[in-house]
Amino acid sequence: MPKYIFVTGGVVSSLGKGISAASLAKLLQCRGLKVTLLKCDPYINVDPGTMNPYQHGEVFVTEDGAETDLDLGHYERFLNVDMHHTNNFTAGQVYETVIAKERRGEFLGATVQVIPHITDEIKGRIRMAAKGHDVAIVEIGGTVGDIESLPFLEAARQLGLEVGKDSALYFHVTLLPYIKASEELKTKPTQHSVGKLREIGINPDIIVCRSERPISPELRAKIAMFCSVHKDSVIQAPDVSTIYEVPVVFQKQGLDEQVLMVLRTRASQMDFEPWKNLVDRLKNPKYEVRIALAGKYTEIKDAYKSVDEALIHGGVAHDARVRIKYVDTTGPAADVDAALEEADGILVPGGFGDRGIEGKLRAVQVARERGIPYFGLCLGMQLAVIEFARNVLKLGAANSTEFDQKTRYPVIDILPEQKAVTDKGATMRLGSYPCAVRKGSLAHKAYGSLTVSERHRHRFELNNKFRRLIEEGGLQVTGVYQPKNLAEIVELRDHPWFLATQFHPEFKSRPEAPHPLFASFIGASLDRARSRRGKGQETYAK
Ligand code: GLN
Repeated sequence: MPKYIFVTGGVVSSLGKGISAASLAKLLQCRGLKVTLLKCDPYINVDPGTMNPYQHGEVFVTEDGAETDLDLGHYERFLNVDMHHTNNFTAGQVYETVIAKERRGEFLGATVQVIPHITDEIKGRIRMAAKGHDVAIVEIGGTVGDIESLPFLEAARQLGLEVGKDSALYFHVTLLPYIKASEELKTKPTQHSVGKLREIGINPDIIVCRSERPISPELRAKIAMFCSVHKDSVIQAPDVSTIYEVPVVFQKQGLDEQVLMVLRTRASQMDFEPWKNLVDRLKNPKYEVRIALAGKYTEIKDAYKSVDEALIHGGVAHDARVRIKYVDTTGPAADVDAALEEADGILVPGGFGDRGIEGKLRAVQVARERGIPYFGLCLGMQLAVIEFARNVLKLGAANSTEFDQKTRYPVIDILPEQKAVTDKGATMRLGSYPCAVRKGSLAHKAYGSLTVSERHRHRFELNNKFRRLIEEGGLQVTGVYQPKNLAEIVELRDHPWFLATQFHPEFKSRPEAPHPLFASFIGASLDRARSRRGKGQETYAK
């Protein structure tokens, strides 16, 4: 029977609940337990696929093609295991299922209500995802006190009652704000949010306090007393330079022991050395490389989360710190040029819609003409093809039909089956597809394999009518989804490193297993740093 840990958030959002949950999961995994994580999102959207990054940050895609919350990316990266569509569900999905059941007559005679029908559906989904694991960590989105999250908290309370005291643990992540004027960390908001939890029948077992500064033993004792937990169960989570350090910070405070004690679970000795070494490598790299990420959501931190992380992992593979510079492509081309000046490598990530497209095309052109390593992801590949068609093949009006439906040269086009799609939700080409890699290509060298499988999220594809022309010009298709003969990877001949993928390799990169293409891209960028700044100058200056 799985044990359950419910993770709630207090005081404010954006406390890094997902990272705390993933870090706890990592510790339990290192103690030999089979752990899974789930995220419950209290919003009405069926999934985040239709939200824009301003609302939601990145949409993370799983192997089985679910468009999910970006916390699932953290779960995969920390645990180094794949998540599935069952690991993330929303209020929208829950209500959709319950209403469909009502229409089928499954509740005949009953009034369908939040309690028990909605809460039963929530519990059923949690139990299903937990099956086959020793521990399921269930993160409940939102902040305690929100109207939306109430049914989820109620379901967590009920589930705890059903499985019994030793099988459920409540883990509350909260904020201790620092008041400059009095030079104090304040506990009152935490007391209030724990009070709110108690009102609905949940007593937290562990309190994780996010704070800018260290918490004194006295303050810890105070929180313990007011919140009715043991003082060893008050865990500090100060800001750290890399998110991957959070499990180390937790372990030092004995969090794994605390949790195992509450859950009365026996586990093996901690096998934590590999993770600690990884954190050491991340914190003390020998080299430094500068990557320009040219996109339109450069002002929101979470919009390109998996790309940022995959770049960092690529750095780990080369003992290099990756400095990411976000280049806003919505401004004038001259600004883009100037921003790319210092770049050792240029990356154009995925995207939708035509805002910022010309700036991104400019970034591709700069990379191609100046021999700067270029990595294009999804839209970044489509733009590499468009730029090549326009400026090398001299097809001036070349475009994607996403941006110009009547273009004379639709080098990127929508497949007929996508044209027929009317609903926008969950209808893209999504999830994992196999890709056959061309022998001797850059991709082949990086992967060390001729067949790979990668995750997708797009509607448009390279138009095969132009494929020969493009290949003869020197932009080669080196990866193909054979059943439909779709181009998956393109590479430029006579360039130090110019590779772009129709899929999203960033979703599969893990700190313990950097993605081969990201590692190869960082390697090439580091080579450029060495040749430009002189060998030795790429050394990271502390
Ligand atoms: N907008 C493009 C498409 O739908 C690219 C999508 C993406 O970059 N994820 O094909």
